[in-house]
Amino acid sequence: MSSGEKMNVLMVSTALQGHINPILKLAKRFIQKGLHVTIITTEMVRDRMLNYNNDYDGTINQEQKIQFEFFSDGLTLEFDRNKDKDKFISTLRTIGSKNLSNLIQNLTTINGHKFYTCMIVDPLLPWAIDIAIDHNIPTALLWIQPCALYLISYHYHNNIDLFNNLEDPNEIIQLPGLPLLEVKDLPSYTFPYGAPRTKQVMMELFHAAKNTKWVFAISNYDLEEEIIDYMASSIPIYPIGPLVSQFMLGENESIGINMNMWEAEDSCIEWLDKKSCSSVIYISFGSVIVLSQEQVNNIAIALKNSDKEFLWVIKPSEKGSEDEIPELPLGFLEETKGKGLVVKWCNQEKVLMHHAVACFMTHCGWNSLLETIVAGVPVIGYPKWGDQPTNAKIIVKKFQNGVVLNIGEDGVASVEEIVRCIKEVMEGLSSEKMKKRALKMKEESRNALEDGGSSNNNIDQFINDLKNLDH
Ligand code: UDP
Repeated sequence: MSSGEKMNVLMVSTALQGHINPILKLAKRFIQKGLHVTIITTEMVRDRMLNYNNDYDGTINQEQKIQFEFFSDGLTLEFDRNKDKDKFISTLRTIGSKNLSNLIQNLTTINGHKFYTCMIVDPLLPWAIDIAIDHNIPTALLWIQPCALYLISYHYHNNIDLFNNLEDPNEIIQLPGLPLLEVKDLPSYTFPYGAPRTKQVMMELFHAAKNTKWVFAISNYDLEEEIIDYMASSIPIYPIGPLVSQFMLGENESIGINMNMWEAEDSCIEWLDKKSCSSVIYISFGSVIVLSQEQVNNIAIALKNSDKEFLWVIKPSEKGSEDEIPELPLGFLEETKGKGLVVKWCNQEKVLMHHAVACFMTHCGWNSLLETIVAGVPVIGYPKWGDQPTNAKIIVKKFQNGVVLNIGEDGVASVEEIVRCIKEVMEGLSSEKMKKRALKMKEESRNALEDGGSSNNNIDQFINDLKNLDH
């Protein structure tokens, strides 16, 4: 492209908080480096942004640097997407994809620039890669799980002789740079009878990914050095993270906008202000998981028995959803008054950066883990599905910045087990060691995005590649 021409990058995301967050954080990095960005997602996100972000008023251009565009996924805002996932996914795939294609066709961009140098695609929208190709736009995939999971999935989808015997629960999988994995540690979509919808999407993704020019990971090199080096020659993936908010890394935010899908209760920060250093357990299971009643009961009793202070996020059900949100045990809030606070949603990054937070009980979602690494906060892992069991294994065997609960086959951790893990992380013999590891990883992750850091170099290399693209 000619010099002086502003490069404009399209980024396409599903309506999931765990996908929108890294997309927006990458957009802010690009803006900092002088690129223009257009983020496209579904109208559901627009609805949430208008409700829950005081800094978003529905106008297209935010400070002339970022443009938001929305397409219909083919369903009304009230449709219960959780309850009828099959209809949601198939409508998104058929009607949504047409809407996205038409939107890209009609886009007029800021400052009169009409063409896009690249389109960055969310892994849950593999068909968007084909749309980009139809519109003659080179694509990049933003992988939102650890690179280790990319390797596992790549092997799995390319039928590399490794996953032949997953019906045997005693099968052990060995991959370079990873601890030995038992079948239960693998992502659920690799199981013979596991999650057919996710299986299908991942299959399409690894087929479509052959047509992407770049694959980016949201973590940093130091976190997964061995695995990235191992993949480098055959399956290159470039870490450009940790994709967390810039304030977590001690930088100014390049643009103030957020894309929150729920309203953060900022009163919890004032509550934390009154607590002493490293005294509070922060508990959250991300934006998708709904705990069972037994899981909630056990956590509540364990918190009471541990006699520690806590901040617990229990997300309300979705608009129009029939999901049953479990109740806290009767009298729990009164009995823990002053010691604990339960909120519907919070600014997790601010919470993790607060000096009062001692540890994070988490479902091991990759964004949450990266955020806690950058904050230097040790973890208590309580994984459920997808990449979470593998991430949990990596915490214990490689990162060593926390513990993982022993969970029964029903997915429930007992009261005693939760109490044991809280003790181990907060006051056990190994707690100092975990804290040290957490602080080491915090330092490495911060360096990655500084001038000359590995992730910063990868972003610069990408921008150079874009400049040299032959359009
Ligand atoms: N999050 C938040 N407030 C909360 C809980 C979660 O802002 O009360 C954010 C969190 O910071 C993270 C994202 O939601 O960026 C969750 O992503 P993750 O990959 O951890 O889990 P998922 O929601 O995709 O299962």
